[in-house]
Amino acid sequence: MGGEVVVGEVVGTAVVVVDDVVAVVVVVVVVVVVVASMAVVVDAAVVLSSPLSQETRSRIGTNQRQGRVGDGSTVCDTTGVGRRPVVGLLVLALVAALATCSANREPRTASGWTPRAADTELSAGAVLLPAEAEVATPPDTVQPPAPPPTVPAVLSSTGIVTPVIGRDGDAWKVSTPCGREAVLTSATPLPTGPVVLDPGHGGYDPGAVGPNGLRESELNLAVSRHAAAALERAGFTTVMTRNDDHGMNLVNRARLAIGLEAKAFVSVHHNAASWAPSAIPGSEMYHQEKSAESKRLAGLIYEEIVAALRVYDVPWVTSGAGVTWRTKANGDDWYAMVNQPRGVTAALAELAFISNPAEADLLADPEVQRVEGEAVARGIIRFLTTSDAGSGYVEGGQMPPRPRTGTGPRGGGGGWDECDDPVL
Ligand SMILES: [Zn+2]
Repeated sequence: MGGEVVVGEVVGTAVVVVDDVVAVVVVVVVVVVVVASMAVVVDAAVVLSSPLSQETRSRIGTNQRQGRVGDGSTVCDTTGVGRRPVVGLLVLALVAALATCSANREPRTASGWTPRAADTELSAGAVLLPAEAEVATPPDTVQPPAPPPTVPAVLSSTGIVTPVIGRDGDAWKVSTPCGREAVLTSATPLPTGPVVLDPGHGGYDPGAVGPNGLRESELNLAVSRHAAAALERAGFTTVMTRNDDHGMNLVNRARLAIGLEAKAFVSVHHNAASWAPSAIPGSEMYHQEKSAESKRLAGLIYEEIVAALRVYDVPWVTSGAGVTWRTKANGDDWYAMVNQPRGVTAALAELAFISNPAEADLLADPEVQRVEGEAVARGIIRFLTTSDAGSGYVEGGQMPPRPRTGTGPRGGGGGWDECDDPVL
């Protein structure tokens, strides 16, 4: 029995691997030789282990030498036990080998063998074994190329930040600021873990426009540049979602924050549609409703920006908000730049009211833009380096919806035909 199992495995394995008529014949011959050898060994073992007297062993030896087999005596029966299995095993081996060959003759498909249900487990091992063998002893010392490093975003040769969506040979496949696909043959990978600043609007989307013609998109960019410079001076690597006055869709802004694993993501805006006069700058900060860290980030920036601007003698206006949150009916954060950077601590800053003539004139001053930017940077640095709580939190619920005001499309929603991609 044990011999048949071994024979079956040897034959079965050999046939599966070789799968050739000639090879099968060779296998059968090999099996016959092996079994014959085994039979001789079995035969000798039977004789040696037989509980016979020395006299009987001598007779057996004599009979064998004289070629006499099976004369009906006890002795001959004993020797017969050692002989008949030899012939039986040879026959069984041939039958088993041929049966195994036949069993493996399953119908072929154009792509090769049709796996049998019973081969499911074996085929899994058969797939794994060659791979493991190749890993252990690579043929001809040829190593597969290393996989490309995971780069979430690159800086184009013209200074445009773009999220990477794949590789095209040695080139980068990127999503342009307006969300179109492009291939860059030369670009600089951006490091992960930076602060990401998001100057709101841009290009075709000016955001709110002040009575003095000041465009929110340009103001946001100028303030963000000052904030980024201050952060870099303090040793914090900073990436801006846009470095120039071009359109940028919201999906890619969030994609950059997520892909770059931003330590903090702050979308920089200026407000419109004031409600009432205020003794202090009417700055608003929106945080992720379910994130205590986002709330703290917003509170610290609020604290810094109000402290920086309140020194100016300006008739401030406000909408009544300080640091707050706003959600949709389904509980998601309302504002895209707070909602979409999932997993990233994000805040939306509305630093002052560009729609208020007095504030618009103040904000047009490059020095004030620097003051604003550096205040934003200080809030972020305190968030990253302290456990300060921040301030300005509005108690009693979220900001109620307000009618949209200002000129131009708000938000730069992505996919809009008007979006003007810069040269990459
Ligand atoms: Zn805005």
